[in-house]
Amino acid sequence: MNSQQQAIHRVSHEIKRRKLEVLRVTEITPLMRRITLHGPELAGFISLGTDDHVKLLFAQTPQEQAALENFGPGAEGPRPTMRDYTPRRYDAATGELDIDFVLHGEGPAATWAAQAQPGQLLHIAGPRGSMIVPDMFDSYLLIGDETALPAIARRLEELPANRAALVVVEIANPDEQQVFQSAAQVDVIWIVRGEQDLVQVTRKLEMPEGRLYAWVATESALSRKVRAVLLNEFGLDEAAVKAAGYWRAEGMQE
Ligand SMILES: Cc1cc2nc3c(=O)[nH]c(=O)nc-3n(C[C@H](O)[C@H](O)[C@H](O)COP(=O)(O)OP(=O)(O)OC[C@H]3O[C@@H](n4cnc5c(N)ncnc54)[C@H](O)[C@@H]3O)c2cc1C
Repeated sequence: MNSQQQAIHRVSHEIKRRKLEVLRVTEITPLMRRITLHGPELAGFISLGTDDHVKLLFAQTPQEQAALENFGPGAEGPRPTMRDYTPRRYDAATGELDIDFVLHGEGPAATWAAQAQPGQLLHIAGPRGSMIVPDMFDSYLLIGDETALPAIARRLEELPANRAALVVVEIANPDEQQVFQSAAQVDVIWIVRGEQDLVQVTRKLEMPEGRLYAWVATESALSRKVRAVLLNEFGLDEAAVKAAGYWRAEGMQE
């Protein structure tokens, strides 16, 4: 094993744009829809990291529609509207890609997902890179909201049996709970938005033992607060904490 395989590292991929077709739509929970995509352009798709993302491309205007048809590396002028989503599952054998969409309300991506039907087309680009977290930790702390569930589920599915994971997910209501598959020992805390505060719950967590990797993905301002608790109050090693803003609440300033 070389030293790179022992460290968290990034792998870059050639950015490819693909025009895919909706194969299936599956209701996972009342607010989460799985859209399964397929098509010849999916060949060679690669997603090595559990928190990879693809860009979904949407046309909101005729100019964006033209840009969507001609979009590519180096293209100038108007660009399509883009949103980041996690490749939840890619199966090279069946040529299927699942993307799980939170139906949060209005927005190019959520609105498209709410009406998606088999036969419709979706343009995607990427992933442009993957963050690889090798199996060098004893335990994992995964904190997020509904938008983080695809990445959390992927991470849990990859963990081996001798690892522990503590998962904290903020959801709109108890119907949004999902069942995770994992060989690891997993403890899940579901908290309902508005009833409990994610930052306060984080403060009171009993951290899993051993060398810990912590991953946070939720609304941007909230992710920053949770990260601060992990670093300043628990004294976690910054190199082993990844906190990302997965969406931005209206009116919030960075
Ligand atoms: C790396 C990465 C991976 C992601 N993976 C996924 C994924 O797999 N599945 C998924 O559903 N999302 C995922 N997200 C989040 C998703 O990109 C955002 O929620 C995005 O803003 C949705 O775009 P939209 O066009 O629907 O709404 P926007 O046009 O971006 O926003 C419209 C309005 O909706 C609000 N809004 C946006 N998202 C939410 C939300 N989740 N809850 C409540 N209000 C919201 C905004 O504040 C705004 O007021 C990911 C984000 C990142 C950065």
